[in-house]
Amino acid sequence: MAKSIKEAAKIPDSRPVLLRQSLTALQAELQRHGFQGYRAKQIFHWLYKQAVPSVAAMTNLPAALRNWLDAFYRFGGVQIAERRDSADGSVKLILALADGARIESVLMREEDRRTLCISSQVGCPLGCLFCMTGQGGFVRNCTADEIVGQYLAARQLLGPGAPPITHIVFMGMGEPLLNCEAVFEAIRRLTDPQAAGLSPRRITVSTAGVAAGIRKLGEAKLNVKLAVSLNASTEDQRGRLMPYARRDRLESVLEACRQFPMPRQHRITFEYVLFDGVNDSPADARRVGQMLRGIRCKINLIPFNPVEGVLPFRRPPQERIEAFQQILIGMNYTASIRYSKGADVGAACGQLAAHAGAQLLYDTRAKG
Ligand code: SAH
Ligand code: SF4
Repeated sequence: MAKSIKEAAKIPDSRPVLLRQSLTALQAELQRHGFQGYRAKQIFHWLYKQAVPSVAAMTNLPAALRNWLDAFYRFGGVQIAERRDSADGSVKLILALADGARIESVLMREEDRRTLCISSQVGCPLGCLFCMTGQGGFVRNCTADEIVGQYLAARQLLGPGAPPITHIVFMGMGEPLLNCEAVFEAIRRLTDPQAAGLSPRRITVSTAGVAAGIRKLGEAKLNVKLAVSLNASTEDQRGRLMPYARRDRLESVLEACRQFPMPRQHRITFEYVLFDGVNDSPADARRVGQMLRGIRCKINLIPFNPVEGVLPFRRPPQERIEAFQQILIGMNYTASIRYSKGADVGAACGQLAAHAGAQLLYDTRAKG
C-alpha cells in the first residue's frame, strides 16, 4: 500500500503549463471549452503585465473560468524562496522550482536600467574551474516557463508601478546554448508584444563557446545579442580553464561568431575573466586582439570574483587589469572593465548556486 502511494506521488503532472501558451493557442483552447476568446488577452495581461503569481489573483475573470484554468493548466514558473539584498542595490533571488530544485537570478539596478541576470540550467555541465556553478555539477535543464518565471518573479519583487526591467542577460547558472529549445521558447515569450514585450536587442545570451548552439541561435532569428566567454588567449590556456573548450575548439567557435547574422551596427561581446598570472599578461592581451581581428565585437574584461573552495585563482592587481585594457584599446577595440555587482551576497559572476547547487546535487544523487 505504502509503495503504491509513493509511486502515485511520482506520476508527473501532465497538464499543459499556462506560462508556455502562446496567445493564439490559449484563445483556441478557451473557445474549445465554451469561453470567449477575448479572455485570453485578459489572462495574458495578468500573467505578463501584472505578473500575478496565481490564477486566483486574476480578479476580473469569472469564477468558472478561474476554476477551469486551475483544473486545465499548471501555472508553471518559479517561487521566490529567499532574497538577499546587496549593499550596492542588487538583489539575489533564490528560486524554488516545482521539483524542489533551486536556481538563482540577480537583479541589478542602475540609474537608467534594471538588468536581470537569469539561469538557464540547474547547475552547469561545463565545469569551468573558476565558476561556482560549474564546480557544483549539473542537475537538469530549466524549462521555458522556469526561465520566463524568473523574469516574472523579479517583476513581483519590484512590485506594481515600479520602473520596468529593461535588460535580460543569460549569465546566471548554466550554459544557455546547451538548452536551446527551452531558452529560445522563453525568448519568444519574453519578446512577444502580447506577452512580456521586451526588445530582443535588450536580451543577451552568453555562451561558454558552444559552436553548434551559436549557429542554432543565428538560425532561430531571434535577433538577440550574443556574448561569448573567451577567457583565454590560447587554445591550451582555454582548455585548462574551461574543460569543454577541448571539445569545441577556438577556431570553430570563432568561425561560428564570424557567421553569426547581425545587422551592420551590431557587435558580439567577448567576455574575458582576468586571472592573476594566468591570462592577464600584455602578450595575452595582444593575442586576444589578434585572434578577434575581423569580427565585429567589443570586449568586456571581468576581474575574477573569488569563489570559495575552488582552485586558487586571484584577481589581478588593478594596474595589470588596466594595462590589459589599454593594449586592446590601442589595437582599436572597444574594451571595458566590468565589475560584478552583489559580491557581498554571493551574486557576482561565477558565484551563483553557492549553497543551493551543492545541496541539490546531494539530494538528486541520493535519490538516483
Ligand atoms: N555559461 C555561460 C553563461 C553563464 S556564466 C557562459 O559561461 O558564458 C556568465 C559569465 O560569468 C561568463 O562570462 C563567465 O566566464 C563569468 N564567470 C564565471 N565565473 C566567474 C568568476 N569566478 N569571476 C568572474 N566571472 C566569472
Ligand atoms: Fe557553466 Fe558558464 Fe560557469 Fe562555465 S562559466 S561552468 S559554462 S555557467
